[in-house]
Amino acid sequence: MEKMPVLVLAPLPDFLMEPLRAAHACHDYFHAEDKAALLASVGAEIRGIVMTGGSVSPVALLEQLPKLEIISVFGVGYDGVPVDWCRTQGIRVTNTPDVLTEDVADTASALVLMTSRQLIAANRFLHAGSWTQGAFPLAHAVRGKLAGIVGLGRIGKAIAHRLEAHGMRIAYHGRTQQEVSWEFFDSLIELARAVDFLIVACPGGAKTKHLINASVLEALGAKGTLINIARGSVVDEAALIAALQRGSIRGAGLDVFEHEPQVPDALMQCENAVLLPHIGSGTYETRREMARLVVENLAAHSRGELLLTPVC
Ligand code: NAP
Repeated sequence: MEKMPVLVLAPLPDFLMEPLRAAHACHDYFHAEDKAALLASVGAEIRGIVMTGGSVSPVALLEQLPKLEIISVFGVGYDGVPVDWCRTQGIRVTNTPDVLTEDVADTASALVLMTSRQLIAANRFLHAGSWTQGAFPLAHAVRGKLAGIVGLGRIGKAIAHRLEAHGMRIAYHGRTQQEVSWEFFDSLIELARAVDFLIVACPGGAKTKHLINASVLEALGAKGTLINIARGSVVDEAALIAALQRGSIRGAGLDVFEHEPQVPDALMQCENAVLLPHIGSGTYETRREMARLVVENLAAHSRGELLLTPVC
């Protein structure tokens, strides 16, 4: 069977590239020095795209691929894909839900512990040799504290279960109330006002851009810590930096940033922020499962079978 021509929009691990190359004719758009020349030579034949959750496939690019049939996202978030446009064009989109849920929830609960118990600062304190001069300052317990999840989906629920195991209480905000025992807040501001930890786990994209703005941070207040494992776009980063600098919120634990991998110097200098380089799903085990879904979705599409994890 003729190999399907596929455009690769992001750097991908070898354990994904190897099966992709074996099954398809892959063209590396991400690393191409002359992207226009690559599109001029193969654009008319491309039938598939592989990209990551953090990469973008704008309509202006997709319009240059008249035979495009499917976009397979190596990630659960697909805010970089113009899904509504794809639907109108009959282009299928797949992602990698569920297999990364537990790792991302682990990362979120680790950020809660790192920020509350000052674990990163304590580690730096010991490495700096400061212990011999005195004890590390006391930190805050998590037990009994209220965590508010913004976006109680697969990952949000997995975070809630972990935090309950740490003795925390759970509340949540989303567009719809769910049949769960946790308290629902239809007002994000009211949730922020009530909680000790505001944990962002909703999708990125235009609909949630700057959902966490200066007013939400003001409501969270000096007793509150913001945790974001969702997308950098959901948080107004300038407002967050201002709040951290003023101490008008207690702290932040962030795995994602508005313009990653660029992180503003001002944010890096905030001692009350724990910053991770988007490692939420970054384990061998999970990334291999995500790779398997990308490969199997493309294979199912090539065979004309049902997609495993379709977005549209
Ligand atoms: P999911 O199951 O679809 O859950 C998303 C939740 O967000 C839903 O409960 C939805 O509930 C809620 N939501 C949607 N729009 C909202 C809004 N405007 N305000 C508040 N809540 C809203 O998705 P998931 O698998 O849990 O993944 C969530 C996100 O995590 C992904 O989209 C991705 O961006 C991010 N993520 C990050 C990493 C990382 O490495 N840091 C890894 C994986 C995923 P309603 O429909 O009721 O509002």
